[in-house]
Amino acid sequence: MKEIILIKLGEMVLKGLNRRTFEDVLIKNIKYRLRGLGQFEIKIAQSTISVVPQSEDIDLDEVCERIGEVFGIVTYSRACVCEKDFDDILAKAPLYVADALADAKTFKVESKRSDIKVESKRSDKRFPYKSPEISAQVGGKILSAFPRLKVDVKNPDVTVTVEVRDYAAYIRCGVMRGQGGMPVGTSGLATVLISGGIDSPVAAYMMAKRGLKLNAVHFESPPYTSERARMKVEKLLKQVSRYAGSIEMHTVPLTKIQETIRDRCPEELFTILLRRVMMKISSRIAESTGSGALITGESLGQVASQTMAALGCTDAAATKLVMRPLIGMDKQEIINISRRIDTFETSIEPYEDCCTVFTPKHPRTKPVLRFVESAEREAQLDEMIEEAIANTTVKRIEA
Ligand code: ATP
Ligand code: MG
Repeated sequence: MKEIILIKLGEMVLKGLNRRTFEDVLIKNIKYRLRGLGQFEIKIAQSTISVVPQSEDIDLDEVCERIGEVFGIVTYSRACVCEKDFDDILAKAPLYVADALADAKTFKVESKRSDIKVESKRSDKRFPYKSPEISAQVGGKILSAFPRLKVDVKNPDVTVTVEVRDYAAYIRCGVMRGQGGMPVGTSGLATVLISGGIDSPVAAYMMAKRGLKLNAVHFESPPYTSERARMKVEKLLKQVSRYAGSIEMHTVPLTKIQETIRDRCPEELFTILLRRVMMKISSRIAESTGSGALITGESLGQVASQTMAALGCTDAAATKLVMRPLIGMDKQEIINISRRIDTFETSIEPYEDCCTVFTPKHPRTKPVLRFVESAEREAQLDEMIEEAIANTTVKRIEA
């Protein structure tokens, strides 16, 4: 029996965007995500994408898991394909639903006709059945194949759906919820500042969900930060790329700049100065890669460098729009997302981050931009910033 996957797109999203672009990008992203699993025919009709495996040996559980990670998909389901022929539907239904009904006591059959001929009120002479009749007959067939089952239209254990479309009919048992959001790439490219913490991978996920393709900047300070710390960040990006597609990671050496700020600037301004350097370098990398914005995992009041005054000083150093999707979220809410997208366990591995090197005992929580800028001038960082950019390494991270 031929089994395929049917994917439903959100109508709401389709209205606001150029529909064709949205669909084309989504199909491209699905193809990319399914690479390595076998050959598929992927096509779209009536706002539904069908993914048709081209051989028997393809692992559809794995296909479903991956489709469940692609942004732009509202729901998806496995379905059995039938000829648009009542005998074929009646013959296949009991066989196809057998597994799904194995542990069920009750079921119901729902039918719908989504063929254009019916929608335009012209009846299709080849298939002159109305939905209630389809449901009744298919239900009857299933009951006679599994006499232990009962029909329960209000609260069934399993709902079997028969959908008659233009060129075929489909039988499915239950739908799965997709990630929602918009296909990665439909909103452009943005640059996430990624640390090894809990917050920035979540921020990356959230903005990719709004259709942004990502590249990433990571700052390291060897020997204060280790190779292991960088590998942890790569692992986090790899997990994010399950949702966001491939990510170009730019790793920037910050040791010399950090030592210079430590030696030449007031201790209480150390963190804010460091964050401004991160913004300056990330803005430059964004500019050179065609990225339109920076993304950070900052959340108001979480630490001294994330007070309103501190964020204002940080922002002033960026020459790109800064997106902070976590700004109004509690830590627990952020952790809940990080568990769901499976970055949490990696994020809590105990490796140092350059932000925790030379941290001041009493960081200024209300820094004044004027004073921060003057301390920055004293430090004479411009040449070191150029050097750090020149020594940046680039690596492509893929799921
Ligand atoms: P996270 O939990 O993501 O590590 P955090 O709680 O450590 O964040 P900060 O250290 O203040 O908070 O960092 C705030 C934001 O700055 C991070 O979410 C990230 O976007 C960026 N950032 C921090 N450290 C780095 C780094 N080493 N490389 C790149 N970006 C960084
Ligand atoms: Mg944080």
